[in-house]
Amino acid sequence: MAEKASVLVVDDDANFLNTMAKILGVKGYAVTKAENGLRALELVRGGAFDAVLMDIKMPVMGGVEACKEIKKINPELAVILMTAFFAGEVSENTLEKGVYAVVVKPFDVDRVIRLVDEIVLRKRTG
Ligand SMILES: [Mg+2]
Repeated sequence: MAEKASVLVVDDDANFLNTMAKILGVKGYAVTKAENGLRALELVRGGAFDAVLMDIKMPVMGGVEACKEIKKINPELAVILMTAFFAGEVSENTLEKGVYAVVVKPFDVDRVIRLVDEIVLRKRTG
């Protein structure tokens, strides 16, 4: 890959956010961090990302709402939602709205990396 794929990671838990950013960085991704959904929207409006990894429960704007707004800005942008609570409502309603996957914390980091890799590969191979 000539250019690094870029991932936007969004979480209000600073430790988690920094850890995920570090892991993705080690895997070769260019990582941008945001602490809530509203900030994520600003970043999506202003830049090109290959994938978004976003927490659901955050102050200011949560992940489900932010995902809906992201889809209005860029319908092609793949969003993976992360949650500590797996509510049926989240899985059924949000998967319809273009969420690529929902992963439940604590999750297998390698699995999430594979999902991001898959998103980038699909995007680059059309
Ligand atoms: Mg949270």
